[in-house]
Formats: sequence, C-alpha cells, structure tokens
Amino acid sequence: MRFAELTTVYNELEATTKRLEMRKILSGLVQRVARSELAEVLYLSQGLLRPEYERVELGVADSLARRALAGVTGTEEEKIRQLTLESGDLGLTAERLFAGRAPPAEVDSRTVAEVYAQLRAIAESAGEGSQERKVLLLSSLLECANATEAKYLLRFVLGTLRLGVREMTLLDALADAYAGGTKEGRRRIEAAFNVSSDLGIVAEALVDHGLDGMDSIRISVGRPVRPMLAERSPDLKDLLERMDGTSVLEYKYDGLRIQAHLPAEGPPQLFSRRLEPISEQFPELLRELPRAIRHRPAIVEGECVSVDPDSGELRPFQAISRRRGRKYDLAKAEEEIPVRLFLFDVLLEGATERMKEDYPERRRRLEALVRPDGSERVALATQQRVTELGAATQFFDQAIADGCEGVIGKSVAPDSVYRAGARGFWWIKYKREYTQALADTIDGVIVGAFAGRGRRAGTWGALLVAVYDPENDRFESFCKVGSGFDDETLAGLKARLRPLETAERPAEVLTELTPDQWFRPSIVIELRGAELSLSPIHRAAFGKLRAGVGLALRFPRFTGRWREDKKETDATTSAELLGLYRSQVRQESSSPADEAPAS
Ligand code: AMP
Repeated sequence: MRFAELTTVYNELEATTKRLEMRKILSGLVQRVARSELAEVLYLSQGLLRPEYERVELGVADSLARRALAGVTGTEEEKIRQLTLESGDLGLTAERLFAGRAPPAEVDSRTVAEVYAQLRAIAESAGEGSQERKVLLLSSLLECANATEAKYLLRFVLGTLRLGVREMTLLDALADAYAGGTKEGRRRIEAAFNVSSDLGIVAEALVDHGLDGMDSIRISVGRPVRPMLAERSPDLKDLLERMDGTSVLEYKYDGLRIQAHLPAEGPPQLFSRRLEPISEQFPELLRELPRAIRHRPAIVEGECVSVDPDSGELRPFQAISRRRGRKYDLAKAEEEIPVRLFLFDVLLEGATERMKEDYPERRRRLEALVRPDGSERVALATQQRVTELGAATQFFDQAIADGCEGVIGKSVAPDSVYRAGARGFWWIKYKREYTQALADTIDGVIVGAFAGRGRRAGTWGALLVAVYDPENDRFESFCKVGSGFDDETLAGLKARLRPLETAERPAEVLTELTPDQWFRPSIVIELRGAELSLSPIHRAAFGKLRAGVGLALRFPRFTGRWREDKKETDATTSAELLGLYRSQVRQESSSPADEAPAS
C-alpha cells in the first residue's frame, strides 16, 4: 500500500466521530492492505511501531522535529515555533508549509513498508550522534511527503497521532473484515489478542488461517498476557452465593501486579498490569525469582508489596508506588523499600499451558512450582477455602489486620480457567471500603478541567472525570471533582496535565459539560464519593437505567492515589458503575443485618 493512501484513510478517520463509521473505514483498510504490511498498518494506526508492551520509542523531541521541518521547507525554526504555538500542533504547521507541494513522481509511490522501515531506523538510532541521524532520517521521510503525509509523519514521530483508534476498535474492524462481523468471530479474535497482546500476530494468523488461526496463537514467554480481572460483590454473602457456596478466598494485597516471565535460560522479564516492561525496577526479583521457581520456562503472576524489613509486615500501597517508574538510585530504593512478591497464579509451566486448567489445579501447580524456602522475596498468596459466611468474615478480618485491602474470592468451578483480559465472576473482590458509604473506590479518567478561582486561581478548580465504555470505546463523564487535592498536588496539577491538553473535545469523550480545558483521556485517578445518582449531564451508562439520564458520583473526592498502574482503558467501566449503582440500591433496601461486616 502506498503511504499516501494510508494517510488519506487517516484523514477520513479524523473527520468522523462516529465509531461505526470508524470501524467501517478500518475494516476497509485492513482488507485492502497486503498481508506483509498488515501488522505495520495496525501498529502505525495506533501511533506505535511495535505492540504496545514492547515500548519502542521514537525518541524524537519537538525541537528535533522542528529542525527537520525547517531544513526541508526552508522555513526558519523560530517561524515554525510561532506557527505551532498558534495551532498547537506541529503536524498542522507541516501541512500548511507543505500545501501545494507535490512530491517527486518517483517517490509518490513509496510504500507503507518503506516508511515503516525508516521510522524503525529512527527509533533504533541511539548513542553518540543519534540526534543528527534522527534528523537526517526524518528529513528524508519529509522530502518525499505531500502535505497530508507530512502532517501525519510529524504527529507520529512526536507521539501525537491520536486517531482515536484503540485496540478494541481494531479488533472490531478485523472481525468485520475476516470473520463476517459475527459475535463469535469477534470473541475468538479478542481471545487470541488477550493471550498475545499483539494485534499484528493476530491479524496475520487471521489472514493465513481465518478464525481457526486464532486457536494456534499461544501464550509465549516474553509476550505478556492481558491480565484476568475481578468483578466485585457488595458483601461476602453475595460473593459466596455467586460462587455456589464455595470459594477460595485470598488476601487482596495492596501493591503492584506483576506478571513474571522466566525463560528457560537468562533473566526473567517482568510486566506491569498495563503490560509495561518493568524488569529494571525490581532487580531483586530478577535475582530471586529463578531461585524460587523450580521449572522453567514459566509465567507466573502475583502482587508485589512493600514489606517492613524488620517485622516483615505489609506496608501500604504508597510505599511500593515509590518504586514504580523509578530510573535512578535503584539500589538505594531496593534497600529502602524492600518488596515481596505474593504469587497467585501460574499461566505457563515448561511446555504446558496452565491457563486452561481450573483454578484449584493451577494453585496446586503453583504450590509445587514455588520452592517454599527458595527466596524471602517470593511467597504464595495466603488463601483459605470457605463454604460459609462466618469463616469468610473471619478470613476477611484477618486479611485487613495483616495489612491487605480485602479479599479476592476465586471460583473453584470446573470452568474457572484463567480468562485473559476478561472481567468476570470467577474472581470477585471485596474490599474494606465496601463497608463504608459507597461501595468501593472508582478509577476515573481525567478528560477535562475547570479553571480555579480564589485560592485556586492559576490552577484547576475541578476536574471532569469519566469511566470507560469498552463496548463503544468511549469515555463517559460521571463527575466533576475538586476535593481531596492537597496543596502540593494542586501546585503541580497544571504541569502534570499539560501534555494531554487538547483544544477540542476528543471524539471518544462523551459529556454534556463543557470544561475550560479538554484533555486526551490518559490519566487515571482514584475517587471516592457518597453515592451514585441519576444525572442528565453525565453520560456514564447513559440511557441504561432511564432514557436521557446517566450516572453521576455525588460528593466525589480524590483519594490521593494516581493510578499510574492503569491506563485509560483499565479505568472503571460504565458497566461496573451501573453494577455499583444497582448494588447501592439493593443495599439501601436491605436491612442492616444484611450489611457487610464492619472491619
Ligand atoms: P482492582 O485493581 O481493585 O480491580 O483489583 C484487582 C487487583 O487486585 C488485581 O489486578 C491484582 O493487582 C490485585 N490482587 C491482589 N491480591 C490478589 C490476589 N490474591 N489475586 C488476584 N489479584 C490480586
């Protein structure tokens, strides 16, 4: 496919806010593109060069991109800077400067593969002189570009492509193109994506073998599996009932989820809940995991928690969050904030995929896999099989006393397989907060802000926050939150959100409110509130309870927790919010005796 053709499709995508239309455009695109370029087109359209978990970065700063643009168009860099200040987008500036410019005829036929190879070369140039090489490579890409290509090339290298094309929409498009748009086809395609986290591999297998190819996509060391997620219950009684009276309750550790991949040889690789490679951040786990795990290759999952070095007691989430994203003073951090990984699942062991085995079997395998005295840093999650409420309540109280957030009930049913990327009632969380006014905290995505007044002049007075609707790939507002921000957070709020500012409402954001500033949905914050109520101005679960109304969180408060471990699509979903609303209504109408046990 010619690169010019791809960028014409990007223009079409940009011109629509309708998801169905986007889906149609994308399914047309994936059908037209040759197999050899399919993976590349899928990555590029998401603003990526490789699947997201590989975190391949272009390493092109604004100034470097301006320099390349200045060289190619013969425009002063300062002029480019000024023009971009006005438009807020170097891509638009490039489009303007390139207007009417026809690329030489022989390069007009340049293919996606050729452009992709050059973009990879930009990403791969590192070390001494790499800045110059990057400028040269980008300049040569621009030399051959028309105005539209130039716009998208610059946005791409700066990481601001933002076509609003997320994985779920691409999966829809693939299902339309290769599985007749059937629900079952879509489900199988998504399942293959959930174990591979790589749309390129999925798409190629679809082209080669159709839907049957989906079953051939296997879990593989080095490729993170999308994590299985938990539903919630308003109380332990409900939890037990949903599990037909028997559940294995486990401590719900309050830390960071880690998926550890141990290859047959060589150091382990660690992935975060959002599939980021985080190996460097936990050198002690890289050392200790091979001691603790008997067979390799293996993929295991657990929660990493900070522990008190003297007493071994669990420390709150805030402690381990100081180790997240850290690049410097790693040795010092390791010493000051020691951690322990509590393993709760095994996905692969040797050549055997364990994901398809039921939970009790996986736990047995996990117990056999982990050497009890292998390492102080690696342990098994504490658990207990319960069949009645008294024992469940006791275990929950013990979990809280031991510094956990609550418990996770695990189904022991024959179908309790590891469901990658899925939220369901095979895992049910029940947290301490559920015993307070509104059951549970909500992880919301910041989509807008309102200017502050008085003491808050110069910063944001309130944030507009949304939940995620995976079905339609949309972010739906559910509250305006101004409480719970301490002075330090407030002082840094503008700067923190600035990179996400955007002049218009992003197409994927739904709300009836117009904030002073819009943000691209990206940052997740944890909120607590008094209750959920019906609202005509918020769009969460809109029309699901009654026509023309959505759900809103009353008296929302920021808990102080930035959920950096979650990306925007990991936020609370509108379906979960609806579930919370319903359980709130149920609780209100039930007698106090039915209420959750107080901790
Ligand atoms: P939440 O983040 O509130 O949706 O709760 C689910 C999270 O709890 C998982 O993603 C894990 O990070 C964490 N967790 C802590 N302990 C366990 C456990 N024993 N089993 C599964 N997940 C756990």
